[in-house]
Amino acid sequence: MAAQIIDGKALAQQLRIDIAKDVSEFNERTGIRPGLAAVLVGGDPASAIYVRNKKIACEKAGLYPEEYKLPEATTQGELLTLIHKLNADPKIHGILVQLPLPKHIDSKPILEAVSQHKDADGFHPYNVGRLVEGEPVFTPCTPKGVIHMIESTGQSITGKRAVVIGRSNIVGKPVALLLMHRHATVTVCHSRTQDLPAVCREADIVVAAIGRTQFVTSEMIKEGAIVIDVGINRREDGSLAGDVDFEPVKEKAGWITPVPGGVGPMTIAMLLQNTVESAKRFAKQ
Ligand code: NDP
Repeated sequence: MAAQIIDGKALAQQLRIDIAKDVSEFNERTGIRPGLAAVLVGGDPASAIYVRNKKIACEKAGLYPEEYKLPEATTQGELLTLIHKLNADPKIHGILVQLPLPKHIDSKPILEAVSQHKDADGFHPYNVGRLVEGEPVFTPCTPKGVIHMIESTGQSITGKRAVVIGRSNIVGKPVALLLMHRHATVTVCHSRTQDLPAVCREADIVVAAIGRTQFVTSEMIKEGAIVIDVGINRREDGSLAGDVDFEPVKEKAGWITPVPGGVGPMTIAMLLQNTVESAKRFAKQ
């Protein structure tokens, strides 16, 4: 039987409705609108689209968006000055620095300059450490979306064999930690993994975060597995494709996410959620 499709668009839409309601109630109670500042440096067209979509999503959910479009020639010092200003701005509860930054800017000190209390992406070392401890403050948005999608199947994660393909700091590692904290038995695969297909065939849950079109084939999937495709790859004709060979894998998996319309829409919804949670923490202080 073909897999059930985990509809990221529909899940994200529901989350945004819930967030808008939450924001409206919070605003009535406190007079505060959760504020998200997005910082974009340079003219990368894909990044510009992401930032614009985030702004629109903020507005629709009743958050307060601020957008900073800085020229390519912006220096490390100028960017740091802006981040320090946003750190001190009481209207802002979440700060997002759109990656990748231009090559002349060292992204590590920039991400570390973002206040740990406004780190809506969860990339600050403090928040990474809290995530490792199993007590996350800001959970990185894409991994948070991945877990939400797995949980939407109604299947328990506890005790399941999970294989995460990819070990990046922004996707693979945090997804593996979140699964482990939910009591899955987790294996992380990467470019040096031996016999990766055999490892994947053991998995009840497969999360693909590689960046290679159709990398995960149906021979690598156990019958009935949950398959989450994080990959966003552009084909030669300009269309988008995930890391999973969707059609054949769909015939074997129990649940599967499409690309587009899968993990992508969840990431923005989680960014809004992180910003609202942050505003609530500030309001309690
Ligand atoms: P990275 O390039 O940082 O990491 C890719 C990982 O895949 C690495 O750990 C790498 O292994 C592994 N890998 C690469 N080739 C192979 C191979 N042949 N066999 C096994 N493992 C391999 O990518 P990201 O984690 O940043 O992103 C992954 C994908 O997810 C991309 O397509 C990206 O566009 C997408 N993405 C989607 C988001 C969304 O919102 N849906 C958000 C963020 C990313 P090694 O460490 O050994 O090099």
